[in-house]
Amino acid sequence: MEDQLKRLVTLQKLDREMRELEALKARIAPFLQEARGEVIRCQEALQKQEQAVTNLKKERKRKESQIEVEELALQKAKGKLLAVKTNREYTAVLEEIDTIHRRIDSLEDEVLALMEAVEKEEEVVRTLTARLQQVEEEYRAVEREKEGEREELDRLLATKAQQRQALMEELDPTLVDQYTRIAHNRNGLAVVPLKDDICQGCFLSLPPQLSHELRKYERLITCSHCQRILYWPEEQEAQGEPTTGEEAESPRQSLH
Ligand SMILES: [Zn+2]
Repeated sequence: MEDQLKRLVTLQKLDREMRELEALKARIAPFLQEARGEVIRCQEALQKQEQAVTNLKKERKRKESQIEVEELALQKAKGKLLAVKTNREYTAVLEEIDTIHRRIDSLEDEVLALMEAVEKEEEVVRTLTARLQQVEEEYRAVEREKEGEREELDRLLATKAQQRQALMEELDPTLVDQYTRIAHNRNGLAVVPLKDDICQGCFLSLPPQLSHELRKYERLITCSHCQRILYWPEEQEAQGEPTTGEEAESPRQSLH
């Protein structure tokens, strides 16, 4: 019984370590997704900026076509000037020409302003492109690092799975069943030491004769409060004092 209990404690330790490794592994994907979010945000900002530049260029083209139309009108008006017969007609055509000139001037001012705006916005495009490149490089570095971590975790998990398999072959299947059932109901903690007549799983007191019985290893003893399997910790025998409650009931903080 003593050997079986010791193996069970080792099994529990392995199971806990494997759960912790799995938890670390499970954090990798969301972590990478979060890191990827920054790349996507940069891509979106760049796309938006490029669209803004495209729109400005379109607007400039539209104004330039308007200028072409006005210039045709101007030529036509100038042609009319040769055909006028009266002073009144002449003045009217001159006014028309003047109006067209003013429209062309105004359009040219708008084109110039648009060209300046394009230049300014293209500068922002260049800044955002550089930023995106940097963020992508950073992401690739993080991704490589995390892939390495994942591989390392897989290696560790495989080793522990092998150890677990070897242990299972030396364990009484009925005992393993009992352990599995309790562990499932008790947050993975099924085998606990008894220290100073206190169950280290639920921290409730147990009758003093139990520790005496426990040391004899004649039968499987469980806590009458929480049904966890009890064992006698060796260090307690040697030092005569309780060790730190490593397997405490409180939720584990290390998995975050
Ligand atoms: Zn208990």
